[in-house]
Amino acid sequence: MPELPEVETVRRTLIELVVGKRIQAVTVRLPRIIQRPAEPEQFADALVGHTIETVERRGKFLRIMLDGLVLVSHLRMEGRYGVFKSEEQIELHTHVIFHFDDGTDLRYKDVRQFGTMHLFRSGQELELPPLNKLGIEPLEETFTLEALHGKLAERSTKIKPLLLNQEHIVGLGNIYVDEALFQAKIHPERTPDTLKPAEWKRLYEAIRSTLALAVEAGGSSIKSYVNGQGEMGMFQHQLLVYGKKDEPCPACAGPIEKFTVGGRGTHICSKCQPYVLSAKSRTQ
Ligand SMILES: [Zn+2]
Repeated sequence: MPELPEVETVRRTLIELVVGKRIQAVTVRLPRIIQRPAEPEQFADALVGHTIETVERRGKFLRIMLDGLVLVSHLRMEGRYGVFKSEEQIELHTHVIFHFDDGTDLRYKDVRQFGTMHLFRSGQELELPPLNKLGIEPLEETFTLEALHGKLAERSTKIKPLLLNQEHIVGLGNIYVDEALFQAKIHPERTPDTLKPAEWKRLYEAIRSTLALAVEAGGSSIKSYVNGQGEMGMFQHQLLVYGKKDEPCPACAGPIEKFTVGGRGTHICSKCQPYVLSAKSRTQ
């Protein structure tokens, strides 16, 4: 599943590939990808004649900014964009095709078919679902130690599901929450009301640095994608604990353990991330 760094890489790549291109026609081959407007024909008709001005991001949503319109796109599990010459063969699982007037297409491919697209008038997109309830952007200046603390400090539920909740902080998925909690040396089942000031600071810095490094790693892969077959998307990062069950912890060489927190597979080093009882259970 793409997380914020992957979506950010797709955003940067799309900027290189499609900014300035004018849409001549749109083909919707799988109507259910289009969530707004209700009719895929309306979606296609509305986009004709519009030019892509830039591509922005809000959480894990791409905002493809056109003159007067915004296309909000979520890749979900396996959505991918690729730019092709219009005469090139259409690959299996291609669901939406934006035909440009320069003889190229932007094609949306999605094997799992979970991706979504919403079309809005410019500015309207932030006031309505799916973007209107999203929390702080962890890579922007508004994300400060105080803001993180203010959002979560009073909570007495497990920290990992809170960090995954997009209404608090956007863009943190299962992989990077595990990575950030490991770097911060915080057990994923601890509750925010037990965290000490030094731990808040470590958590804040770990969220920022984990995401920033992953964005950097993604950034370095952009060139090869542009020069390749025009497809972009997932790439491998250097992960410390995620997916490393039974491998040695990079800090202490103890074994990485895997268990479930809030229904999600979770990786920790129990030496580096000791479980500390919640304030409530200590008084019992
Ligand atoms: Zn360790």
